Amino acid sequence: MISFEYARANDVAEATRQIAGTPGAKFIAGGTNLIDLMKMDVERPTRLVDISRLPLDKVEETRDGGLRIGALVRNTDLAYHPVVQQRYPVLSSALLAGASQQLRNMASTGGNLVQRTRCLYFYDTAMPCNKRDPGSGCSAIEGHNRMNAILGTSASCIAVHPSDMCVALAMLEAKVRVTGSSGERTIAFADFHRLPGDTPQRDSNLEPGEIITAIELPARGFPANYTYLKIRDRLSYAFALVSVAVGLELEGGTIKEARFALGGVAHKPWRNTQAEAALRGQTPDQAAFAQAADIVLREAKGFGHNTFKIELARRSIARALSQAARGTPQSQSNKKIA
Ligand code: SF4
Repeated sequence: MISFEYARANDVAEATRQIAGTPGAKFIAGGTNLIDLMKMDVERPTRLVDISRLPLDKVEETRDGGLRIGALVRNTDLAYHPVVQQRYPVLSSALLAGASQQLRNMASTGGNLVQRTRCLYFYDTAMPCNKRDPGSGCSAIEGHNRMNAILGTSASCIAVHPSDMCVALAMLEAKVRVTGSSGERTIAFADFHRLPGDTPQRDSNLEPGEIITAIELPARGFPANYTYLKIRDRLSYAFALVSVAVGLELEGGTIKEARFALGGVAHKPWRNTQAEAALRGQTPDQAAFAQAADIVLREAKGFGHNTFKIELARRSIARALSQAARGTPQSQSNKKIA
């Protein structure tokens, strides 16, 4: 049995105070990942600081035409928020592609960002894992790695980030607002999650004791030409083998602006700005989509069980760009891929 202290915070300042100076203390909100990790003996917090009652549960429009999403907005509430559905439908779609209805009802926006990998060996405490136990080795590189990464890997870790929501947020160029003992700061979404390098135990660039307070979306939401395509082993309640969030702006039959991000392939949502630049000014056709996919995947590397993901990602990118260009986004209720 794990013994830990429990404390509840009523405001952000109290939450950061409660956690400061207590090594091993963790924030808990929805608990949809942390409780599992504690049950599996992967996480052993000395203190849980309950932040579920902090006043961070609002979705507000900002003066620059964007949206500010409180870190404690539940995934379900965010997916069905009318402004999100209208102006950022790719975010709504990505949220509805994730987990199950029950989990989405509990999971918070901030928690979604800091959920941990579902690499099999991370959860198996009998096996070496550099992320769980730095320096012990990586069991996945020569082990069962079907779900693991093909881009941005290192000799220390080939885990993937499991979120769907974060793939859409990366494509939308969201920002993350955080508060710690030295004050507030903003982190660009591209800089929030890390590649494993030789410190795979660090998933993000949050500093110890910092709390996520909000996610900010810019005004541009790609409501006309977007999609979130998620390829997985079964049609619901499964993590992505490969997913693609796309936002396009078309003008006069050509691509004026192109963004896309991949999930299920790397330690963080994966964007390649060169591939996006190659799409601008092009006719939205299969040749342009194939060229963009080639640019993304030229440095991809498989590890045996997961090598199929390279071709799967190539086809998924082309399919998702095609869905977005046609204005026929992937439905998350009828999951047949068009
Ligand atoms: Fe651990 Fe990363 Fe290797 Fe998985 S891939 S066993 S999380 S070090």
